[in-house]
Amino acid sequence: MALENLRDLYQQVILERYKKPRHRGKTEPTDRYQKGHNPSCGDTIELTLKLSPAGDQIEDVKFEGEGCAIAMASADLMAEAIRGKTLDEALQMVQRFQTMMQGKDEFPPELRKLNVMQGVSQFPVRIKCATLTWHTLKAALEASNAQAVGVVSNE
Ligand code: ZN
Repeated sequence: MALENLRDLYQQVILERYKKPRHRGKTEPTDRYQKGHNPSCGDTIELTLKLSPAGDQIEDVKFEGEGCAIAMASADLMAEAIRGKTLDEALQMVQRFQTMMQGKDEFPPELRKLNVMQGVSQFPVRIKCATLTWHTLKAALEASNAQAVGVVSNE
């Protein structure tokens, strides 16, 4: 597939997720809550997580917020990808996403949907839009309860 067509495909997926997100809302119950903000674009995101009874696995994750197509699509794709993952696995995915945004890595086949965001790494000003949801997730996972510790800013 020509690189240009591939870019078009990525854009289509991003726009489709933006228009028809599959994981918007709030989890019930909410075991973790975290708000994140990306001042450079104005994206705001609120993540809620439902954890397993032992607290070591993500059973559900949803997001609410306002922002550009990249920020919202990234949140929706992330929510899908981290469902069922352990907290450790999710934190490793945060790390891998950041490395991917530096153009150095990508996700394995079972998580290839996330690689749609790879194209964003070519547009430095938009990287913060794509990583906002992952920064917010990291803060949510590192919190010890459902109380939001202020707002995460990725500035
Ligand atoms: Zn944005």
